[in-house]
Amino acid sequence: MSGAGWVYLVGAGPGDPGLVTARGLALIRSCDVLLYDRLVPPELLDEAPNAERIFVGKRPGEEHSRQLVADALMIERAKGGAMVVRLKGGDPFVFGRGAEELELLVQSDVPFEVVPGVTSATSAAAYAGIPVTHRGVARNFAVLTANEEAEGSIPWDQMATGPDTLVLMMGVRALRSVATRLISRGRDPQTPAAVVEWGTLPRQRVVTGPLEKIGELAADAGIRSPATTYIGEVVKLRDTISWFERRPLHGVRVVVTRAKHQAQAFGDILAESGAEVIYLPTIEIVDPEGFVDVDLAAKKLAEGLYAWVVFTSANGLEKFFERIDACGYDARAFARTKVAAVGSVTAALLAERGIKADFVPETFTAETLTAGMDRGVGRVLLPRVENGPSDIVELLRGSGWTPEECATYRNVLGSASQPSVERVRAGRVDVVTFASASAVRAFVELVGDPPELGLGPEAEPGEVSVACIGPRTADTARGLGFRVDVVAEEHTAQGLKHALIEHFSAPAAAEFSDEDDEVTEVTGDAEVTGDAEGSQADDGTMEP
Ligand code: SAH
Repeated sequence: MSGAGWVYLVGAGPGDPGLVTARGLALIRSCDVLLYDRLVPPELLDEAPNAERIFVGKRPGEEHSRQLVADALMIERAKGGAMVVRLKGGDPFVFGRGAEELELLVQSDVPFEVVPGVTSATSAAAYAGIPVTHRGVARNFAVLTANEEAEGSIPWDQMATGPDTLVLMMGVRALRSVATRLISRGRDPQTPAAVVEWGTLPRQRVVTGPLEKIGELAADAGIRSPATTYIGEVVKLRDTISWFERRPLHGVRVVVTRAKHQAQAFGDILAESGAEVIYLPTIEIVDPEGFVDVDLAAKKLAEGLYAWVVFTSANGLEKFFERIDACGYDARAFARTKVAAVGSVTAALLAERGIKADFVPETFTAETLTAGMDRGVGRVLLPRVENGPSDIVELLRGSGWTPEECATYRNVLGSASQPSVERVRAGRVDVVTFASASAVRAFVELVGDPPELGLGPEAEPGEVSVACIGPRTADTARGLGFRVDVVAEEHTAQGLKHALIEHFSAPAAAEFSDEDDEVTEVTGDAEVTGDAEGSQADDGTMEP
């Protein structure tokens, strides 16, 4: 506890975790207690692993009791001396009931501060390519919510004809009746309108059409809460400046079969391209049982007893250098030895440690080996995963070398969460990616048999796809009964991303036309746009 209790009312932004303020994030990271609502991005909760994190959001039917729980907890924890962050979606003062909670704090003598947030009222529009104001088009905007409780108190006559842009924050169910009200009070039925569902998130969908049809179009597209509707000429600008859904993997739900901390680089580049990344840790990388073998290998290396060291993976390399350091050596331990790095990522990691690889094959085959290492007599060190595949060892032996393995890490079964496993089993993803053969094997153990999951060879096109970082991983996958749809040409995270983009470069928008042939569109979610399939992979590591 930080001493004197304090409450910070913080806006979490509309959904994209990057849209929290710098101050909000700093407070989340340092709080003792985090009280959060339903639409708060889960990534922000992960920023406070040591805080007491309590969901106080509303569930349908128990709004009132939940609010009382939230209020009581907030006051109790703050009075106990805790630094409390009360995290609310969007901005706490835009239909967030933030001020009501502050009034209670005043009554209870609890000190507080407010950290505003990016409201979905303007940001969901921004991510849909709709500016709420635009010179010469809209000089003002009004934000309203129209649930049953509020409907009676809204000055509909003024709303219909007053504001240039109308922003409706509410469920889609009321949309038809609200549109009818506005039209009957003088708004042009042809006014362009757009509904943005899950704005700023990879699952963002946008439905556009004229005001008189927008309720029906949204219902047809199955739009649900949270969604915000924009009414006004500014909606047209979307045709020119929409950007979010144009990212190549927008809406593609990609399963990464590693823990987030081990696959962050890969996850990040997928997210940059618009994908929704689902981390499903099938394997985790841990230390070997002991370091005796590795440390002995480091010593022999420093003594110049190896002709070559071959790094076949980023993990093998990084862990080996950790031991070199722990044993008191540095890059000079490699002075009398040639170094091979399989793959450009491994070679780059080696270069970061001051060593230029003598040989960088993209894969390690009999042909590349002969081309790069010749035949030789002498010892070759392979620092790599425990019980790694034996083919490389045999290749080296076949060329006359004396290979020596040392295990720098082990793969153990990962801790995939049940909801993520269930999601994959239910097929609510588009592609499962594998960056190593061990991840494939662990997936089968944790999630199930490929054919039963619809990932087998006889699965229909359009089902969940399977993507592998390279041919070795793909061979393992096929051997275990997977249908492999995508194999990266370049066996890196970037290479896999490019392969996924190619695979999913289906049309970005599906046309929803009605009998009047009005211009309407729905973009976004694969469920609407159709044939998303696939799977995906991992951090920058090379197979195996
Ligand atoms: N304080 C919040 C609004 C809370 S009211 C803010 O400032 O954003 C809840 C309403 O916000 C929803 O019914 C929906 O209309 C809107 N909303 C919240 N998140 C949204 C999102 N990601 N995309 C579109 N609308 C959203």
